[in-house]
Amino acid sequence: MEVNTNSKEETQKIGADLANDLEGGDIIALFGNLGAGKTTFVQGLAKALGIKKRILSPTFVFVRSYPFSKNSEKLTFHHLDLYRGQSISDFDALGLDEIFDKDAICVIEWADKIEKFLPKKRIDVFFEIKNGDKRLINIRRNK
Ligand code: ADP
Ligand code: MG
Repeated sequence: MEVNTNSKEETQKIGADLANDLEGGDIIALFGNLGAGKTTFVQGLAKALGIKKRILSPTFVFVRSYPFSKNSEKLTFHHLDLYRGQSISDFDALGLDEIFDKDAICVIEWADKIEKFLPKKRIDVFFEIKNGDKRLINIRRNK
């Protein structure tokens, strides 16, 4: 699915729409340059999951985790931002096995950095900066 947004709020809405289709075990890989709207998208997504905490990009850590529940099931939302990650050892320390859990929904900014560790069955979201406040967002569900 391809969609253009014209504001931060519209991008948050696209994140919220995706949230409604998610279930435990889902992994969402985000691709796109700095300022393309990845964190903005995650804010809308997390809010729609019922997470009340404000989502900021994890800066000094690569991952922040938030408990939430969906249909009275207790799940965890993991928000990864690998912008500052450089080496395999950075990513080893993340404990991806635990993060990619059936009881968790995981969203990864700068997913290209760990692409070879990502399961094939995932949702990819590509962000492109267009003129001004326009962003092109492409969502692809891989089997
Ligand atoms: P990233 O996480 O990809 O680096 P952010 O979501 O942190 O990007 O930042 C996006 C910036 O672009 C924010 O300052 C936001 O207000 C601005 N912006 C302008 N138009 C849009 C849009 N259509 N979608 C998302 N963000 C937008
Ligand atoms: Mg970001």
